[in-house]
Amino acid sequence: MSEGLKHLLTALGERSSYDAVSQCSRCGYCEQACPTYVATGRESFSPRGRNQLVRLMLEGRLDDPQSAAEALSTCLLCGACQTVCPAHVPTPDIVLEGRRALGRPGARLVDAVQRLMRERPALFRTLMGWGFRFKRWGLAGLAARSGLLDLLGFGVLAKMAADVEEAPRSTVDELLAGRPELGPAANAAWGYFAPCGPRWLLPRVGEATVEVLGALHGKGAALANPCCGLLSFNYGSLDEARASARAVIERAEAAGLPAGAPVVGDCSSCVSFLKSYPQLFLGDPAWKARAEAFAARVKDVVELLPAAGVPKDPGVNALVIHDACRLRHGQGCADAPRAALKAVAGGTLKTLTKPEHCCGGAGAFAFVHGELSEELLKAKVADIADAQARVVAAASTSCLVQLERGLNKYYSSCRVAHPTELVAESLRRRKPDGAPGNDG
Ligand code: SF4
Ligand code: SF4
Repeated sequence: MSEGLKHLLTALGERSSYDAVSQCSRCGYCEQACPTYVATGRESFSPRGRNQLVRLMLEGRLDDPQSAAEALSTCLLCGACQTVCPAHVPTPDIVLEGRRALGRPGARLVDAVQRLMRERPALFRTLMGWGFRFKRWGLAGLAARSGLLDLLGFGVLAKMAADVEEAPRSTVDELLAGRPELGPAANAAWGYFAPCGPRWLLPRVGEATVEVLGALHGKGAALANPCCGLLSFNYGSLDEARASARAVIERAEAAGLPAGAPVVGDCSSCVSFLKSYPQLFLGDPAWKARAEAFAARVKDVVELLPAAGVPKDPGVNALVIHDACRLRHGQGCADAPRAALKAVAGGTLKTLTKPEHCCGGAGAFAFVHGELSEELLKAKVADIADAQARVVAAASTSCLVQLERGLNKYYSSCRVAHPTELVAESLRRRKPDGAPGNDG
């Protein structure tokens, strides 16, 4: 096997990749939870099928690498199988090990983007700014179709930027400069780690998060984010992912937040990855200890949304909650925002038939496997329409972008928002001058 973690942190403790995949008894209990199996009915697109392919790969008995690559690349890494599996098989991590073993087309370009974000943030900001200018000028689709951006390694980012309904004119750093909720780290009750989604694509989410944290938890501080490394972990190299993780940990340590002040993020994919940092450093005790200390203070912002102090928003009716996969299966805290959202919606909170079903966003999945992604999106929007919802709450950038596109296309009387946006709107309505308050 080429580059890979080789050892995984599983629910049963540290295991070799082979032992982890051998935990799969092929019972099939997970199949109906797997969106790609339900959509296609193909055994190789099921958790059991994918585990079996990786097992054959590890045993050197794989005879059709091309079909295996297709089966593994169509995994959403949603983790639904892991949640229902009685043997706690970590299928998403196993799939990633399989992808690494087969080699990853474009991995060097992904790593180059990751390095750029970490080492040349000003240049990256300039390039993103031009990407959004292209979009405003109606040229984003043309640039993506030309293949030039793919050649430069910005293909997926260009397609994501093209899918964001409204090209942001400012980054979250610009929006947060001078905000009264932010101050020196030494006195902060929390540190805001702006994930790349809110930072580059949806800065309105980051702004709402800081506003809400300030109103409910007191003053905080903005932390540096050189990118968490998830991009390289999923599509590039482990070395690059580790370099980004080390940079994140070093900068968080240097910020000097008081003990007990959480590091807070507002994209469940990114936060889930931050919490999993120790897995990157198995076999490196010094860095593993630092990663564990860092991961222990990481919180998804939805974990800090109590119902107390959140008033009913008369502007929010017929609200439903979509469970982002990395919130439900990655972090196990899908219920965390429910009390606050119930308070916002009052008696108008409704329930989806399948709130846990993946919307098909899944990071770059929507751009790489467009047809399958669209099928999952249509099923999700149909569920939302059946509930006659007017607002959907979702806690991950990928879900927000995907659902915004799907709702505009198939059910335009409904909008999507991050939970902190809804809480911020509710707090603002209570104050006639628009400033957030905390008088419950
Ligand atoms: S992953 Fe778990 S639930 Fe699925 S077939 Fe294997 S043992 Fe059964
Ligand atoms: S992670 Fe999701 S898509 Fe992948 S095998 Fe598991 S349930 Fe299926």
